[in-house]
Amino acid sequence: MADLIHLLSDAVANQIAAGEVVQRPASVVKELLENTIDAGATDIKLVIRDAGKLLIQVIDNGCGMSQGDARMCFERHATSKIRKADDLLAIQTLGFRGEALASIASVAQVELKTRKHGDELGTMVLVEGTEFKGQSAVSCPAGTSVSVKNLFFNVPARRNFLKANTLELKYILDEFFRISLVNPGISFTAYNQDKILYQLPSGHLKERILNLYGAAYAQRLVPVKMDTPMVNISGFIGKPEFAKRTRGEQFFFTNRRFMKNAYFHHAVELAFKELIPSDAVPTYFLFLEVDPGTIDVNIHPTKTEINFQDNKSIYALLHAAVKQAIGKFNITPSLDFEREQGLDIPPPPTDRPVMPPTVTINPDYNPFNTGRPGQTAHPLGFPTGDTSSIRAWRDFYADLPATQDDHAQPATLPFADTLPQTENISASTDFPRKINLQVNQALLITHTKSGVVIIDQQRAHERILYERMMKDEDREQPNFQSLLIPSAISLNTDDAGLLRNWLGDFLEMGFEISDFGKNSFLIHTIPAGTNAEEAGHLIESVLEAMKNGTGDHQAAHRSHLSAILASKLAVKRGKKLHPAEIDSIIESLFACHVPDLSPDGRPTMMLIPYEEIHKKLKIN
Ligand code: ADP
Ligand code: MG
Repeated sequence: MADLIHLLSDAVANQIAAGEVVQRPASVVKELLENTIDAGATDIKLVIRDAGKLLIQVIDNGCGMSQGDARMCFERHATSKIRKADDLLAIQTLGFRGEALASIASVAQVELKTRKHGDELGTMVLVEGTEFKGQSAVSCPAGTSVSVKNLFFNVPARRNFLKANTLELKYILDEFFRISLVNPGISFTAYNQDKILYQLPSGHLKERILNLYGAAYAQRLVPVKMDTPMVNISGFIGKPEFAKRTRGEQFFFTNRRFMKNAYFHHAVELAFKELIPSDAVPTYFLFLEVDPGTIDVNIHPTKTEINFQDNKSIYALLHAAVKQAIGKFNITPSLDFEREQGLDIPPPPTDRPVMPPTVTINPDYNPFNTGRPGQTAHPLGFPTGDTSSIRAWRDFYADLPATQDDHAQPATLPFADTLPQTENISASTDFPRKINLQVNQALLITHTKSGVVIIDQQRAHERILYERMMKDEDREQPNFQSLLIPSAISLNTDDAGLLRNWLGDFLEMGFEISDFGKNSFLIHTIPAGTNAEEAGHLIESVLEAMKNGTGDHQAAHRSHLSAILASKLAVKRGKKLHPAEIDSIIESLFACHVPDLSPDGRPTMMLIPYEEIHKKLKIN
């Protein structure tokens, strides 16, 4: 029956799909490796030649395919993993769109050899750039071997677009690391140009990490473990003194899927704050297990984002789990012969919650050296070093003409006068002035080298204020205004108790509040830009939100307080903004540590690539 269908008849559709699924050799590696996991393999080999441009071969000992399936699997939407829409909800496997093999075969020469364990003979299928080239019975080991040769041989534009071999190989190894880290029970071998790059016997996670990164990591890792009804967190973090200035050892997995999450990264980073130089990034391998019903796994094949129903709580729990792990390690430092002398950390006091000690334990850290020569400290007090989020966004925004109009207009937003003047953004004067727009009294529109960016003014401003509040030690005076006549509020006993605890935090945000006795308080200063009449109300609503959100996670309360305050103080949708304010928000946002998310993890902006616009408008 399947034999009557013309194989890969819709060549064009496949090539279009291939554009989505197969961007570079690493995407092929990801898809092939995921298929081996789904096939239940316990031993997997990856063979690479010429950074995958010449050959990517993946050999597994999984379930194998029947003769019919061996041919069928190259059909678009051919998948053994779902049959009906309902199956989508229960999906446990990595793939299910049935697009990968069809897409790969449309842009390469593919040879598939496969045999089911019970079968005597296997099947070989050859497909070349959407064309079926032949099928025959072969004798081969049980399992499957897929060879992908001469990727993009029929799409020269895409082939030319590939990067140098070292970089493409790095992307491949990124995928290999992600998949092998989440499957330590499976043995993997990676070959490059016929040499073994990695040989990973099956074992536990820690062994897997040591096999990937070297035995020295045995002394560097601290286990993390926290089980809660909402999320189970496990894995390892690197000890603070081993934090590096280069990225690459940060891994989140959710329900065994690799995930990128700038917001959660921030939670981990925050837990390490003061323990590592500001331009260093902590190492972590963290696994989150959540009820699959509480997340939205973006089913786009190349995307690694996952949306969580309760982002904020998981942020807080993650932060707490990492802090706890650091705290435990500080109290009982492991016997560690590699450690340099003088690194012992005094145990934290027992009469208050474990906080990161303020001693600097990296002997190389020079507090006066904020980074590479010529680099200035981040105006919001965040690291300017290798924090890729900032860098990526800055690069992305950088080579555009100026937006700043010689500070002609005083901005009236809270904290606006301390908003950074990002030099590299406003440096160029050779171009006509870039105009940023506000539309619909809610959205800001700007453009970058790669596309048009639409920004939600409210969330963007929340992010800016939040980061402004979260910066610590080197904090300048908070930006406040004094009230001529202090404003009084009286609270119930519970709220008064809370406020008393948090007076210091409120002060750091520009609220000077004194305890007047009998659960009454006097407000002397408020953050700049806040309406004086609303000060009391603002404090009450912040207290209320704090009660609802923090739970036991004292450690995260500062961040929580900042997020709430930021959301109260931020300009709202519906407010018409002055051009200087528009520019100021856009520039400050791009200078943010995590510019693309609001403090509670919702997107602040979207980018529409020119490519997409051209496609829509049918401009070629
Ligand atoms: P998906 O993984 O989304 O189902 P693919 O195009 O990646 O789609 O694969 C199509 C089908 O081919 C799979 O559903 C599976 O049945 C089969 N298949 C692919 N790779 C393997 C493998 N290594 N071992 C066994 N079966 C495989
Ligand atoms: Mg697949």
